[in-house]
Amino acid sequence: MNKKNIDTILVRGGLTRSNFDETSEALFLNSGYVYESAEQAEASFKQEIDHYVYSRYGNPTVEMFQNRLALLEGAQSCFATATGMAAVFASLACFLKKGDRIVASEALFSSCHYIINDILPRYGIEAVFVFGNDKADWEQALSKPTQAVFLETPSNPLLEVLDIRMIADLAHQAGARVVVDNVFATPILQKPLELGADIVVYSTTKHIDGQGRCLGGAILCSQEFIDEHLLAFMRHTGPSMSPFNAWVMLKGLETLRLRVEAQSHAAHKIAEFLQSQKKILKTRYPALPTHPQHQLAMQQMSMGSTLISFDYDGDKAQVFRFLNRLQVIDISNNLGDTKSLITHPPTTTHKRLEEEIRLRLGILPNSVRLSVGLEDVQDLCDDLAQAMN
Ligand SMILES: *Cc1c(COP(=O)(O)O)cnc(C)c1O
Repeated sequence: MNKKNIDTILVRGGLTRSNFDETSEALFLNSGYVYESAEQAEASFKQEIDHYVYSRYGNPTVEMFQNRLALLEGAQSCFATATGMAAVFASLACFLKKGDRIVASEALFSSCHYIINDILPRYGIEAVFVFGNDKADWEQALSKPTQAVFLETPSNPLLEVLDIRMIADLAHQAGARVVVDNVFATPILQKPLELGADIVVYSTTKHIDGQGRCLGGAILCSQEFIDEHLLAFMRHTGPSMSPFNAWVMLKGLETLRLRVEAQSHAAHKIAEFLQSQKKILKTRYPALPTHPQHQLAMQQMSMGSTLISFDYDGDKAQVFRFLNRLQVIDISNNLGDTKSLITHPPTTTHKRLEEEIRLRLGILPNSVRLSVGLEDVQDLCDDLAQAMN
């Protein structure tokens, strides 16, 4: 299939039909497989024949989802996982070992921060964090041999944008594989592999389902990385995606571009509206010229994303009153949904970070993150305005 025909890939990529000739992707909700003979079972385990063995290793519905997402991303291969965090952990734990070193950006989703800062060092892996986009800081951090670089751009929750190409070049000189958490940008708005990343991870819970139903994750990488590292790790530790969730995600992919583009258009308008409001001290949205990395963002991403963050004029109590007065937008820590969702990161998603790190990242007591859905833009602006006043 032509790489450029994204809409066709989203609807048909990876589709295999059973001998019932069904139109829609079949849901193979089964854990195991049967063999015609003991000899066939033996041959399957020896991988002499192509036969599913167990759904922890492979399942036809999960495979359709993996193949469709790989075509979309332009990756050789994909492994689907139970959640986004399973994808983040497996992408690193499958190849890092005692004595290795990982360099990561400091502006991370707090569970990613926990994996790198708390879990990996327990296994003898040194973790070094870099704050911001400054080339000299990344050069310094990558002046020693390093096995992994992990980053998220735009970052959760403040939408800081990192230069994937610049960091990937420095990482490769230090001998590292580059893992990019592309959840905020989605495979529609940003292609990290084309910018030098080696591995892309997703929480498919977010935009790929995008309708608040299922948890899921995915790791996109080379076939070699799967064969040499990931497959054995996934098989033996077991964080695989359920076939049911893969089936929901396949349906989510069909409308992914339509949703992400419509939600990003709406987010851009709402970011402009927020910027004009007295009660909003600072609005961060990559497609606004006031964003500190606006130019870089527009080189790396085709739109500003479905997310906005802003600082509200008031203390924590006043921010809470603002959130509680919203009537259309729901208070929720999820994101990328068709329903607009708002959260107060310092008391929810980023509560676990030490206050010193939070403040250095700019997550203040009055910082708010808004995920823009598919509702009418004017209804959303009206809702925000009535809650402010
Ligand atoms: C939500 C999120 C994750 C974790 O995904 P789950 O599916 O909730 O496990 C990882 N990274 C980022 C940037 C996220 O927003």
